[in-house]
Amino acid sequence: MAFAEANPSAGLCYMMHNVALMCVLTYGSDELKQQICSDVLNDGKFLALAYSELGSGTHFYNPQIHAEFASEHVILDGVKSMVTSAGQASWYLVLAPSAENGKVDNWAVPLSAAGLSFDNNTWQGMGMRPNISCPMKLDNVQVSMLNRLGVAGSGAEQVFSVVAPFFVTGLAAVYSGVCLSLSHAANEHAKSRKYPDAQPLSHIETVQTHLANIYTRAIAAKSLTWLPPTPPQMCCKRS
Ligand SMILES: Cc1cc2nc3c(=O)[nH]c(=O)nc-3n(C[C@H](O)[C@H](O)[C@H](O)COP(=O)(O)OP(=O)(O)OC[C@H]3O[C@@H](n4cnc5c(N)ncnc54)[C@H](O)[C@@H]3O)c2cc1C
Repeated sequence: MAFAEANPSAGLCYMMHNVALMCVLTYGSDELKQQICSDVLNDGKFLALAYSELGSGTHFYNPQIHAEFASEHVILDGVKSMVTSAGQASWYLVLAPSAENGKVDNWAVPLSAAGLSFDNNTWQGMGMRPNISCPMKLDNVQVSMLNRLGVAGSGAEQVFSVVAPFFVTGLAAVYSGVCLSLSHAANEHAKSRKYPDAQPLSHIETVQTHLANIYTRAIAAKSLTWLPPTPPQMCCKRS
């Protein structure tokens, strides 16, 4: 939230990185964890989520890209629609159909993989241009079986148990930070904009009411994001 208040793109990139890293730490093999953590800790590299597709949208646990399996690798082909830190992150988590019928796999794809490209010019996010959340193309990208997170077909379970809770809380934090920042900017503008009689915009009661509304909502969003989760035993308690 603090990152996003100062710089929305920094907040969003950091949040996506955290979610992806959490997934690697929870489901990656020891070798994969070692390799990725060493990249992050020793070389300042970071991670990204390449889950969404134009077709599936928010239902990103239902990927439509192609996955062709060989004994030691998989070949991924298709387009991911919005990838924050596209082309800048060193590792991309990619959801693709599994060899297990109707299930999904979660792959860690390195930036260096042959066939990976990014359509950087399509991202024009107002106020968030530096996060380059643009499409990523996988043109028959070959990925080692060792880069699959967890067992075959466990991608959806990973999405719902690790990705979703951190993703949703992280997004709430980022956009609460953005709202607080906008509220401060609006206040500053209202104080500095002066009329010919030297009265500032902020002295007008209607404007004060609008600014107070913006601030109240931003603070409410921040408080809700910080609210500790309800322990499961309390919401499931039976008499
Ligand atoms: C700034 C930004 C950065 C992003 N970065 C990434 C990234 O790094 N990696 C990544 O994988 N994706 C990323 N995304 C994509 C994002 O995760 C969504 O997949 C994408 O925004 C979905 O857009 P859509 O228009 O297809 O939504 P749609 O799927 O068309 O949904 C439209 C609306 O309907 C609602 N809706 C849909 N289904 C239901 C339902 N069952 N119940 C209730 N409401 C529903 C949705 O919540 C949404 O409000 C990013 C998006 C943005 C805006």
